[in-house]
Amino acid sequence: MTRSVKASIIDGKTISAELRARVAAEVSRLKQEYGLTPGLAVVLVGNDPASEVYVRNKGIATREAGMNSYEYRLPAETSEADVLAKVRELNADPSVHGFLVQFPVPDHISQQNVIDAIDPSKDADGLHPLNAGRLASGLPAMVPATPEGCLIMAKKAGGDLSGKHAVVIGRSNLVGKPVAQLLLRENCTVTIAHSRSHDLPAIAREADILVAAVGRPQMVKRDWVKPGAIVIDVGINRVPAPEKGEGKTRLVGDVAFDEVAEVAGAITPVPGGVGLMTVACLLRNTVIAACRAKGIELPKDF
Ligand code: NAP
Repeated sequence: MTRSVKASIIDGKTISAELRARVAAEVSRLKQEYGLTPGLAVVLVGNDPASEVYVRNKGIATREAGMNSYEYRLPAETSEADVLAKVRELNADPSVHGFLVQFPVPDHISQQNVIDAIDPSKDADGLHPLNAGRLASGLPAMVPATPEGCLIMAKKAGGDLSGKHAVVIGRSNLVGKPVAQLLLRENCTVTIAHSRSHDLPAIAREADILVAAVGRPQMVKRDWVKPGAIVIDVGINRVPAPEKGEGKTRLVGDVAFDEVAEVAGAITPVPGGVGLMTVACLLRNTVIAACRAKGIELPKDF
């Protein structure tokens, strides 16, 4: 059966390229006018294959934007104390304006202890409780990159989001909660749904803006979506793809793209959607952190 796509595609490639170009232009201005080169450091503990790819891509994008990129690879058996020591070293390093520890970390290391040790002003991933609290209080904060990317995409598709009903499926500190806070800041009416929510399809159908951040392949079906809604698919799930050959896999989101695209007004694809925005927003966060550290004002539209 041939399906007809009605939704406009919110193209992560174009939108993230625009943002990265803006970051690169700002970096060039900071170098010229202030002799300042923003620096982003990434710490990888162990050799999780997906994390290796993320870290490599972040390094490439950082250098492409004209920024300094620092990578620290620690063996999987590194103790928590040694990881925390590396965090303190980066907190004190004046050439590093933002940094993150790539998660997941090995089981013997507490993710929360690592987050708590990061200087909130250098917290490129925006995960420190101080930044989460500042975001919830409507104060300037380091905002997690993926949620910021979701918001940029929703605004590209919907313009002024004020008064719209946003439903966020997922309540993680990394995605669901900060996305909900950002949508609230845009004056949306926000509902957060999760694994204990009753009748999720009915809740989702109320949404003018539906954000899926669950980690369940293609969970959101056509009849979960209000006609014309903006659908932001954060999920990245690897599923078997026997059609590509034995043992092959492909990436899908939390939304059943083909069927939902027939009813939604606009939708992000996977791959090629939110994932591309994450790195661009991380670079932007680092520039913001560098400017705050030096008391330099950024253009209003940065
Ligand atoms: P997470 O920490 O595992 O959180 C998943 C959330 O989904 C939880 O709040 C959970 O509810 C909820 N949930 C799970 N099953 C559900 C169900 N059947 N119905 C309703 N809610 C359900 O995951 P995450 O870190 O937020 O990531 C979510 C997805 O986004 C993953 O696929 C991840 O790979 C992807 N991701 C993408 C990017 C990117 O750059 N595009 C970045 C980060 C994450 P409870 O709280 O009740 O358990």
